[in-house]
Amino acid sequence: MYSLIIFDADGTLRRCTVPGQVCPNADDQWELLPNVKENLSGISWGVPGNGRVAFGIASNQAGISKGYLTEETVYRLLVDMATAVVGFRPIEGSIRFCPHGRSEGCKCRKPAPLMLEQLMEFWGVEPEQTLFVGDMESDRLAAENAGCDFKWAWESGGFSLRDYPGG
Ligand SMILES: [Mg+2]
Ligand SMILES: [Zn+2]
Repeated sequence: MYSLIIFDADGTLRRCTVPGQVCPNADDQWELLPNVKENLSGISWGVPGNGRVAFGIASNQAGISKGYLTEETVYRLLVDMATAVVGFRPIEGSIRFCPHGRSEGCKCRKPAPLMLEQLMEFWGVEPEQTLFVGDMESDRLAAENAGCDFKWAWESGGFSLRDYPGG
């Protein structure tokens, strides 16, 4: 039983509906992956304790540094995605993204653990009680670097069908 479950976004909870594009840049460019909502519906999301599980998002969003979209748009799209998954608007602080490009050498871009560490601190949950779900090797490494458990999105009860590479 985990007290905090953190999700990657693209390729884990949502997919981009624009052919050849990995991440959505606008409101009409994404949809939840098949079965995501159904397979997470049994979880009581909330403040950890009494069987409730905290929810978090940790997403690399290099499209910001490339100028494809703004931080405001990234955040809104992630909030909308998270709301569609859990059924309520997650509180500020539970959604984290890295706006930097691969070459910028920041401390937040996965596989760096900073976003996961910030989420664990935000919710007051130890790494041993935290699960990170992602679809890429950089996600697995981020979990390893943060000391929390990791699950491949496509192995989590089939809630995320990995039907395209990348994300
Ligand atoms: Mg991904
Ligand atoms: Zn960063």
